Amino acid sequence: MTMTDQQAPQTVSAPTLETLSPSRASDFKVCPQLFKFKAIDKIEVPPTIYQARGTTAHLALQRLFDLTPQERTPETLYELFRTAWVELRDVEFPDLFTNTEDEREWGIESLEVLANYFLVEDPASLEPLDRELDMTEDIGEMTIRGILDRMEEEPDGLVITDYKTGKAPPEHYAIPAFFALKIYALLIRKRTGRTPVRLKLMYLNGPTVYEIPVTDPQLDATHRKLEALWKAINRAIINNHFPTRPGKLCNWCQYQDRCPAFIAEPEEAAAS
Ligand code: SF4
Repeated sequence: MTMTDQQAPQTVSAPTLETLSPSRASDFKVCPQLFKFKAIDKIEVPPTIYQARGTTAHLALQRLFDLTPQERTPETLYELFRTAWVELRDVEFPDLFTNTEDEREWGIESLEVLANYFLVEDPASLEPLDRELDMTEDIGEMTIRGILDRMEEEPDGLVITDYKTGKAPPEHYAIPAFFALKIYALLIRKRTGRTPVRLKLMYLNGPTVYEIPVTDPQLDATHRKLEALWKAINRAIINNHFPTRPGKLCNWCQYQDRCPAFIAEPEEAAAS
């Protein structure tokens, strides 16, 4: 007697990761529980003024390079920021400001941060190859997806640049931020067959620019780390086990009020 489909035991396979972005990969490295809040539970938290500044500044900087080199002036960038804010405010940040005075103060601070951009780079002197590039690539069994801020061709090769509107951390603390950029470099190598020569983190609030060179062996190592991370995330999903990893980042974590580490042992977690 053969077993029909109706008679076959129902096997429900545990959901596993479909895609992973460089930012979520970095989150899991920092704190698996943070990854769970963001990527699995998809808990929405109110946007902050810093996120609003980052999103609006990214859009303004992206559009700056739609213009001719002569038009890429500070005044134009400020105007692009104002226009982008009007577009984004009601759609993405409707409840961010309760009064116009706070919004005005935030706008002035934002323009001061943007003014710093011209201290670290002359936008008239470069033509990015890509901006806000949507990257989705299959790497082995993984599908990695993310938006790359900018890539340019410099005399010695491809350079990947990431804008940050927050304050620059001391150099040592910026190193983990390069992990996401190395993943982008891996995606670029997969897509174009070319290995970027440099990764650049441009912190406008400062301003400070950190750069590191990239090599094929480094990207091979990033590939291996990413595969290990992919497997670790799938194990965490299957076992529903996302440990907390209290550290300095907790001070800025928007999920602290629901984090088991803080609910269980708030003083211990804060001190670690
Ligand atoms: S508060 Fe700290 S331990 Fe808890 S999820 Fe956030 S980063 Fe992780």
